[in-house]
Amino acid sequence: MITPNYNLLKKYFSKSRKVVITTHRSPDGDALGSSIALYDRLKVHGHEVKVIVPNSYPNYLKFMPFIDDVLIYEDDEVKCIEIINKTDTFFFLDFNDYCRIDNMEKLISNHNAYKIMIDHHQSPSINADQILSDVSICSTAELVFDFINNLGFGLSYESAIALYTGIVTDSGSFKYDLVSKKTHSIASELLSFDINHGDIHRKLFDNNSVSRMKLLGCCLTTNFEILSEHNTAFFYLRQHDLIQNDFKKGDTEGFVNMPLSLKGIVFSAFFVEYEDGVKISFRSKSHFDVNKFSRNHFNGGGHKNAAGGKITDMNLMKVIEYFKSTLEDYKNELNS
Ligand code: 5GP
Ligand code: MN
Repeated sequence: MITPNYNLLKKYFSKSRKVVITTHRSPDGDALGSSIALYDRLKVHGHEVKVIVPNSYPNYLKFMPFIDDVLIYEDDEVKCIEIINKTDTFFFLDFNDYCRIDNMEKLISNHNAYKIMIDHHQSPSINADQILSDVSICSTAELVFDFINNLGFGLSYESAIALYTGIVTDSGSFKYDLVSKKTHSIASELLSFDINHGDIHRKLFDNNSVSRMKLLGCCLTTNFEILSEHNTAFFYLRQHDLIQNDFKKGDTEGFVNMPLSLKGIVFSAFFVEYEDGVKISFRSKSHFDVNKFSRNHFNGGGHKNAAGGKITDMNLMKVIEYFKSTLEDYKNELNS
């Protein structure tokens, strides 16, 4: 665990700052929830704040407070560059490697503004001025909760909704191994702001599109393989599956978890063939380390039980073939 110097930060934020909060590409509930909560609190305390995300977020997150204030770099590059050039403080939330902010990387990594990183992924590689990093915590939202408390910024109804969304999405609705007594006690404190947790769950999970159902249909029928000798199962979606079923961003969220519900399966993978390469998601149960697996073979990373990667120089079927060929080396771990 790495902790920031809160006394120094209190002094730093006693002056009005021009802050840019950013997070990883394809922002999820934790990335956006953490960013929005911090945005709200810094603004209330007199700072000039913008949230800039590298690309768009899924529709099901559009219910979040202040979502219309979030700028999307890919859609509004000129405006975002202007803001970034003038900023004196960055927050990096829910990522720890500049490659995860894509086309914003150059502009930000070379920028001489003060940099604060709050994250829960393994192996931080950004040399920020202040770092709050803890890989034993299941969401960045929990770390942002602590950060806000330690700076004495207080919370609001809106920031409570944002943090609760971050915790629910990154904890698999309070299911993952990293969920702790503290996760529940933070959630309980957030509920004291009279937020409607049932409504948040429904907005997040009961908001599916028909295209999502159809894509799931592909995954559950033709595009599905079980490799029982390695306790592994995977789904895939080809470009033409995406086109035929009217794929929209966020439609495949959570699919990768489904094979893990099969008895005996400890490792699951999900391959999606986009125009610019194959994106892979990995999930595992208990001891099998998908962060290590993804770093070793798929230019990726993440956490022990949830990781991702990307391959741009092989077609989908070759990537799957390669994936299968790597499993033999993990035979013992997958069967223990
Ligand atoms: P997902 O499968 O939901 O895209 O990602 C699961 C986890 O792996 C997330 O915590 C995400 O931050 C991480 N992750 C996903 N893709 C990549 C990648 O290409 N590189 C790295 N380093 N981490 C990734
Ligand atoms: Mn996260």
